[in-house]
Amino acid sequence: MCGLCGASLTSYKRGKERSNRAGLRCAKHTGGCGHLTVDYERLESYVFDTVIASLEENPRWQQRSAEQDPAHDAELARLEGQKANLEEHARRARSLFVEGLMPEQEMRQQVTRINTELESLNGRIDSMLGTTVLSAAMADGLDWRSWNVSRRRNFIRLLVAQVVVDKWPEGMATGLPKRASESVDDHRARVEAHQREGIRQRVTIKTK
Ligand SMILES: [Zn+2]
Repeated sequence: MCGLCGASLTSYKRGKERSNRAGLRCAKHTGGCGHLTVDYERLESYVFDTVIASLEENPRWQQRSAEQDPAHDAELARLEGQKANLEEHARRARSLFVEGLMPEQEMRQQVTRINTELESLNGRIDSMLGTTVLSAAMADGLDWRSWNVSRRRNFIRLLVAQVVVDKWPEGMATGLPKRASESVDDHRARVEAHQREGIRQRVTIKTK
């Protein structure tokens, strides 16, 4: 979320001249102020590192992940079963329509209704999987860089209420020219540390 206007940030590709990094911005066309951008990878790293560090310190979260509800797996299986039924139902409606046994309008109504139900079902499955994600993540040692996109998304959805990004700090340099005495790698490391500090000052994470 944009710290200037409160709008949600959307992703965009930074141009070739800016080394093709993915970014987030507060875009005017989605109702934002248009005055804020942030590097996606650096923001993601900061958010995960911070949340995981507090997770390791926070006994309440650790307890939550240790409490394995025995009904959990059964409920998850039940929801997955419901989902499969609905998908089968939609397939049947479509094939009845193709065979000329169901009017198009009725098929469309059924499919729309099924899709609405599927959406709410998916939401419930996701939130249950989120709990599993947390237990699995803690068991694996919380190495978030090795996680796939859906595990990352579930993890953040489970633990983070909001990430607010503010403008680059006033008076802090945006670029660091390479010193003659330093190597390319040393310069890159210095830039990353500087960017990281910029992100640290700009970002507020509200956990659940
Ligand atoms: Zn904004």
